[in-house]
Amino acid sequence: MYIHTMSYVDLVLKNGRIIDPVNRVDMVADIAVNNGTILSIGNNAQFQAKKTFDAGGCLVTPGLIDCHVHCYQYATPLGINPDEHCLSRGVTTVVDAGSAGASTFEGLRRYVAEKCKARMLSFVHIAQHGLAAAGCASGAPGGELDSLNVVSVDECVKCVTENRDIVVGIKLRLSDSIADEGKNEMEAYRRALQASERAGVPLMVHHTMSTVPTQVNDDKSSSLGCPRDLKAGDLYTHTYHPYRSSIVDPTTQTIYPDVLKARQKGVLYDVGHGQGSFGWTVAEISSTSGFYPDIISTDLHTGNHRGPAYDLPTVMSKFLHLGMPLVEVIHAVTSTSAKAIGWGDRIGSLTPGKEADITVLKLDEGPVSLEDCQSQVRVLDKVFKPVAVWRAGNQYPITVSDPFPNRDAMKLNLREWDKILIRDKDKPVIQ
Ligand SMILES: [Zn+2]
Repeated sequence: MYIHTMSYVDLVLKNGRIIDPVNRVDMVADIAVNNGTILSIGNNAQFQAKKTFDAGGCLVTPGLIDCHVHCYQYATPLGINPDEHCLSRGVTTVVDAGSAGASTFEGLRRYVAEKCKARMLSFVHIAQHGLAAAGCASGAPGGELDSLNVVSVDECVKCVTENRDIVVGIKLRLSDSIADEGKNEMEAYRRALQASERAGVPLMVHHTMSTVPTQVNDDKSSSLGCPRDLKAGDLYTHTYHPYRSSIVDPTTQTIYPDVLKARQKGVLYDVGHGQGSFGWTVAEISSTSGFYPDIISTDLHTGNHRGPAYDLPTVMSKFLHLGMPLVEVIHAVTSTSAKAIGWGDRIGSLTPGKEADITVLKLDEGPVSLEDCQSQVRVLDKVFKPVAVWRAGNQYPITVSDPFPNRDAMKLNLREWDKILIRDKDKPVIQ
């Protein structure tokens, strides 16, 4: 495109290291933004900008996408405010992971998606009431799959079909404690697979302490395995949790063959850090064999935004520490996530002509101690900090996360120590 030498544009971000994995861009350059869209990347000296931002010493990336968040605030016990906890930390697209089901979805649309400044998209829960009473999260026993009466394939498919502008997939939680002591897990899984097939959208499965096996050793068995029976494009979340149903075989301390086979088939592994779903030991065993996540997400909710998840840049820092290359970390919160939710042609890149969702990050030098969900601590030499964020060309303020580690949360989380299958030798001592 020919640009007149005296063109005025709304904004130029100068001198940042631009990392845009899908366009294979990794260079120090400027970005020009006009009318809410990306105009060009390169040497933009010819522009007169109404506003300039000096991103010297910083990373400039496509607006971050958090594929697993709970933001149905006040309607579900897990719900947080997506602008307060995500946009203000550099996340321009927030994907709610099944807080609402078919019966409660309209509220999520009207009261959250239409109100927040961040772009909010959503998985629809296969249970019609979603996480309105999320069992483990509300302090009461039980959960959304205690009765199969509320698990309707038809209702779920209808909800997806009527809300395709913001629905990106279907969500299922497989955990015995939320499914009538495991009795309803297999059937709910069958129905969720069927709904996802019929609606033509991916299924995201939470798989912890489940009666559905991670590794199926009897090929003739009619029971389903998870991830074995997921299809290409489905998302396996909470990949690095250390409990029963872990991807790591506790006897051999290696990743189960079914997990590797599913990845070859095209199943995507999502972090979904959460309050219990990220263990340093599991992540280290996985990283040693090169098993990094496809998608890095927080599972941010009321129980973890003050630690151990904090925010997306903090979760990204953990994977940088684990040896995941910087560009791959950015990939896992931008283009890979965008593609996984079917929005690859609209978000997750800095392609000229696209909406100007831009995040500026810096890498702070450590050392910094950072806890996992089981209060195990590692010392990181670098952490991502958000510096600035634009959503559709509008800048929003950045806030700082709570200081870490959070020792009070760590003391609470240590109660789960005896249930952990994959962990360090010694129980942490918290001063
Ligand atoms: Zn979740």
